[in-house]
Amino acid sequence: MTYFGDPMPLLLRKMSCSLPVRLTGLAICLVTLGIAVMAGLGYTKVYEVTEQNASIRIDRAAKAASSVMAHAFEGQFTAQRDEAGRPLALQLTRGTADTVLQFSDAYDRLLAEIGRNNEGAANLFRFNAETSAFDRFATTFRRPDGSMPPPMSIAAGHPAFTALESAQPFLGEVPVMGRMRLAYLTPILDVQGHLAGALAVDVGWADDLLTARHDLGAAMFGFAASVLAIVAGLGTIWMTRETQPLRKLAQFANDVASNTDESDVPFLERHDEVGALAHGLARVAKLQDKLEYLAYTDTLTGQGNRARYISDLEVALQASKAGRPWALLHINLKRFGRINAAYGPSCGDAVLRTVGDLIAVTFGPSARVARQGDDDFGVLLSDFDNTDAVATLCQSFLHQLSTPMRCAGVEVQVDASIGICLIPEHAGDLETAVGHVNLALRAARGNEAQGFCFYSPELQDGVLREVKLEGALRRALEGGGLSLHYQPQIDPVTHTLYGLEALTRWNHPVEGSVPPVEFIAIAEQSGLIVDLGDWVLNESCSQARTWLDEGFDFRHISVNVSPIQLWQPGFVAKVQAYLQKHRLDGRYLCLEVTESVFADRSDTSVAGVLGGLRALGVGLSLDDFGSGYSSLGYLNKLPFDQLKIDRAFVQDAPRDLQRAKLLQGIVALGKGLGLTIVAEGAELGDEVELVRELGVRVVQGFYYAPAVPSEALEQTLERIASEAEDRQADASGSGVRLTA
Ligand code: C2E
Ligand code: MG
Ligand code: MG
Repeated sequence: MTYFGDPMPLLLRKMSCSLPVRLTGLAICLVTLGIAVMAGLGYTKVYEVTEQNASIRIDRAAKAASSVMAHAFEGQFTAQRDEAGRPLALQLTRGTADTVLQFSDAYDRLLAEIGRNNEGAANLFRFNAETSAFDRFATTFRRPDGSMPPPMSIAAGHPAFTALESAQPFLGEVPVMGRMRLAYLTPILDVQGHLAGALAVDVGWADDLLTARHDLGAAMFGFAASVLAIVAGLGTIWMTRETQPLRKLAQFANDVASNTDESDVPFLERHDEVGALAHGLARVAKLQDKLEYLAYTDTLTGQGNRARYISDLEVALQASKAGRPWALLHINLKRFGRINAAYGPSCGDAVLRTVGDLIAVTFGPSARVARQGDDDFGVLLSDFDNTDAVATLCQSFLHQLSTPMRCAGVEVQVDASIGICLIPEHAGDLETAVGHVNLALRAARGNEAQGFCFYSPELQDGVLREVKLEGALRRALEGGGLSLHYQPQIDPVTHTLYGLEALTRWNHPVEGSVPPVEFIAIAEQSGLIVDLGDWVLNESCSQARTWLDEGFDFRHISVNVSPIQLWQPGFVAKVQAYLQKHRLDGRYLCLEVTESVFADRSDTSVAGVLGGLRALGVGLSLDDFGSGYSSLGYLNKLPFDQLKIDRAFVQDAPRDLQRAKLLQGIVALGKGLGLTIVAEGAELGDEVELVRELGVRVVQGFYYAPAVPSEALEQTLERIASEAEDRQADASGSGVRLTA
């Protein structure tokens, strides 16, 4: 595999015009040329000699035949000749053609004589005016049994016909007994000079000479062809053998370029040109290894970098097409920025190096590990039996990671989430694989308990739903659909109102009420939380102003603030502006933040913002305490005045001694720091009773009331008061003992 297209077809195309083929072709051309020149010269010489001799011989035969005719039939024929003595015609001196040109023993003997003289054949023809053809009436030819051969005529189309028809002699090849023979045909004219017949002679020897010449030509051609075939065959075999090392080296070079061969360079032991080439290639391969290391290595961790990750993933996708399964893992460190901010970048670097090593060790030597982002590692696994084996490796890694590591003299603990995409089961191309593994990682982040998650199509559905909800939430922010409900915070001793927490409600036009945990998370991911937070602040302040104007003493409204909101520049000024807009004193507002606001922030920046808010007179509450880091350092250093204990510690505490003790510890600690303790999520009487006994001064839970619309608040508070009175009346005390 390579980014520059598959080089193999190109190589194969080049091979079809390879060196052996070209050299053999050249040898054939040269040999052909040599043979052609030599054979051509020889053949031309033979041709000239045979041509000359044949024409001399046939001339002589024709002269002899006409002389013999004229002499044998003295007074019957005269021979007309040209200056060279070649017969132009034989003319009858008496009689007619019909009477003279008839078969007779005399003619037969004469022809036999001519034939013997010429060592060839002789024929006599009479011109038939009706058929315009020369009919043979006497010949030296005989059948094998000695009888006369079948009749034969020279008619239109015969090579000699045109010449004879115009009373001219003909010298050339004519068809005789199934083959071409050199012949001389002399026209015979009657007394008036009209065409009467013809005398044809050929020379056996000259004819054989011509045949031999033809055979020689054919033999030369055959020989040349055989020589060429042998040269071609042997040349190809020899050249193929000789150039085989070159082909091997070319293949090696190609494999090196496409990174598919890790074997040693062949032919290094040779001391010829091939050996020199092999040594050159070895140096190139070494250089490539070096370049590859530089181009594909993350210098910080020594693992692969993003380019390595992409390249390995391409290779894995390709290999998976041949049926080999792979698992692509994205490992992301949680809140890594916090380590950098708290202990400095060199500590962060050390952590990344340790994590990289741990990944490499845990997932084994066959795993391809790359750091493909700041605190993102990509791992490609191929050597696993099934998905359970992958899950076990992930568990093992997360377990080992949970052991604190030492850096910059302090103990640091990092946590990670792992998304897993199986190839080709979940993805067949790079984009899909990366998209799906990120979806799985995202789901893994939401699954704190397990820490890793395999991709599944449902995750995709979840994202689609989130995208749709995001659009709907945006529209709700612009056009309505959001409202605030208020949950009372009650003093469990006096059962009077301590404050209210504003909780946002969203009534989706189609889906109805969407749980805050779901839409708040979407708002935080999409950045809509800033607008939503502004809306909540404005709405809460507006409600507070209305209640104040109505004379309702609500004490304060607690508003949840997400980290993104809190860390936006100018947040303190924004809160101040809302207070001013609604003419509110800061004490009517309390801002609730969770411990996650401290992630990735230095102590000074946290203290700066919280101090600014505190200076406005606004209350500060640490929400969901116990569900996150539960770092006591924050409580001590930062200007909180309220601690809200997560409902996980409150619910069932009366029936769970361990939980009750934890709750007791947190309450004691909070009280020790001078904070007002709010117990969240108390649903049952014994839970309220327990927290009250522990000294908790505020309870917020369904036991008293859920969050209700502002219009229903008065009625809710009346109900709480009357129920408290009733309980007081039949109170008999149901305290819960913390001792076993
Ligand atoms: P939270 O700030 O801890 O709010 C308390 C949550 O506990 C509320 O859930 C409340 O209805 C629920 N709760 C109170 N008493 C009980 C109880 O006795 N039993 C049970 N099971 N639950 C109880 P809700 O309204 O669903 O809100 C969930 C979370 O959504 C809130 O937790 C808060 O983190 C977030 N949220 C709600 N509104 C806003 C908002 O306007 N802005 C921001 N940033 N977050 C908000
Ligand atoms: Mg809250
Ligand atoms: Mg809470």
